[in-house]
Amino acid sequence: MPEGDSVYQAAARVRTAFEGKVIAHCQFRVPRFATVDLSGRTVESVRSVGKHHLIDVGDDLSIHTHLKMEGAWHVHPIGTKWRRPAFHARLVLRTDTHEAVAFEMGICEMLTDADGALAYIGPDLLGPTWDTDVAVANLMRDPDRPIGLALLDQHLMAGVGNVFRCEACFLRGVDPRRKVADVDIPAMVDLCHRLLQANRSRIRTTTGVNVNGKRYYVYGRGRKPCFRCGTPISRDFLGEDDSEERVLYHCTRCQT
Ligand SMILES: [Zn+2]
Repeated sequence: MPEGDSVYQAAARVRTAFEGKVIAHCQFRVPRFATVDLSGRTVESVRSVGKHHLIDVGDDLSIHTHLKMEGAWHVHPIGTKWRRPAFHARLVLRTDTHEAVAFEMGICEMLTDADGALAYIGPDLLGPTWDTDVAVANLMRDPDRPIGLALLDQHLMAGVGNVFRCEACFLRGVDPRRKVADVDIPAMVDLCHRLLQANRSRIRTTTGVNVNGKRYYVYGRGRKPCFRCGTPISRDFLGEDDSEERVLYHCTRCQT
């Protein structure tokens, strides 16, 4: 499940190999962009905006990808065996020495004026222009909305996915169905900011324990005992039927 931190890390990997380098080979495996050839262009910057990944290639043009459920950017020296099937690749980029492959992207497209196109996105928890006050004000605009849904709304604040939504609510002792009006929003926003910042350059954990099965308090732990109180973690649903982030994990005793 990609969240702001995993997209941030993907951008860092692509940036290390590609920023300032000339694209020697470019192949979109998406019908709409199959004829686009960016070879000869220099990669000006590689960055993340919330859960969106941008590779700026000059003339206000950017490669825009969104990882959605299964997407991943793999970066390696040319000649390395791919770790996913070739038919999952949506874009292949190469410099003289390195290759970046975008696998199973939810979005893989060329954008003109990416910043304009993504202007609807709220303050990015990992972005250079993060603004706590704007994020707090955005979240408080709809006081009747469940906090567990508001935290996922990228228009309000960008970077929180299902893992951080579940974990932040647990750490604040808040039932994800509680109304925004009944939640300490500045404290919740501050916690999300600290969680994302702490995880931008490590294997994700909210417990601080880097061991399988112990990285999170509630996420992915349905029916297992709560680390704090022993109550089986509840797994149910919150949100739209077609939402990929509707599965909710919480402790009914610790979160009220
Ligand atoms: Zn508990």
